[in-house]
Amino acid sequence: MLKINDLKCKVETQDGEEKAILKGLSLEVPAGEVHAIMGPNGSGKSTLSYVLTGRDGYEVTGGEMRFADEDLAELAPEERAALGLYLSFQYPVEIPGVPTITFLKEALNAQRATRGEEEVTAPEFMKLIRAKAKQLNVSMDMLKRAVNVGFSGGEKKRMEILQALVLEPKFLILDETDSGLDIDALKIVSDGVNALRSPERGMLVITHYQRLLDHITPDVVHVMANGRIVKSGGPELARELEAEGYDKYLGEAA
Ligand code: ADP
Ligand code: MG
Ligand code: MG
Repeated sequence: MLKINDLKCKVETQDGEEKAILKGLSLEVPAGEVHAIMGPNGSGKSTLSYVLTGRDGYEVTGGEMRFADEDLAELAPEERAALGLYLSFQYPVEIPGVPTITFLKEALNAQRATRGEEEVTAPEFMKLIRAKAKQLNVSMDMLKRAVNVGFSGGEKKRMEILQALVLEPKFLILDETDSGLDIDALKIVSDGVNALRSPERGMLVITHYQRLLDHITPDVVHVMANGRIVKSGGPELARELEAEGYDKYLGEAA
C-alpha cells in the first residue's frame, strides 16, 4: 500500500541554507497493518509525514514514495488527500470562528466532491457525527466550539481522531498523537485508532514513547535515527527501546 524506497529530502532553513533530513529512508506498510515509527527527537519523523503529504518547503531529492500504486511526488497535496492519505498533526491548527462541527462537515463534503459524490445531507451528517462523537466521548457542546481554540492537548487529539473516524481515510498517519494526552484520553484515542483498523487500511503511528503502543499493538516497529530506518522488529522492539533508550541506534546511524 505504502512503499518508500531510499527516500531523501531536504528543507530550506530560515537562513536560506539547505539541510538534508531524510537520508535514504526505506519502508513498506501493507494494507491491514499498523506500523510504528519510534526515534529520538530530531530524527526526521515529522519530516517524513510532511514529505508524504506534500507540505510546502520539503523537497524530495532522491528515492521514491508510492501509495496505492501512484507516485506521490507527482501529486499535489489535495490529490494525495483524495487518494485517502490522512495526516494527524503533531501541532494542530486553531481556526477561530469556525465551529468544529461545521469544519468536519465541510471536510467530509470536500472529500465527497473529489470523488464526484453528492454532499452529505444535514440529517445524514448529524446521525454520523453523533455516533462517532459518542465513540470518542466528545460532547455536542465541544463540537460547537471553534476548531481547536482553547482545547486542551487531549481534546485536540480527540478531535483529530474524530476527523479520521468521519473521513475514514485509506491510510492514516498519526504524528505524536500521544503527546499531551492524559491516561483516559490516551485510552479513548487508542480505542478510536483500533476501531479504524481494517484489512483495507494501513496506519503509520509515529511516537516518541512506548506508552501509546501499550494500547495500539503495532504489527511492526521501526526505529528511525538520523533520517533513516535503522532497525525494524515486532512489538517487543518498542519495549526494548523504552528500557534501553535510543543510544545504541544513534551510534550506528552516525
Ligand atoms: P522529529 O519529528 O523526529 O523530532 P523532525 O522531522 O521534526 O524530527 O526534524 C528533523 C530535523 O530537521 C531536526 O533537526 C529539525 O530541526 C530539522 N528541521 C525540520 N524542518 C526544518 C526546517 N524547516 N528548517 C530547518 N530545520 C528543520
Ligand atoms: Mg519532535
Ligand atoms: Mg516530530
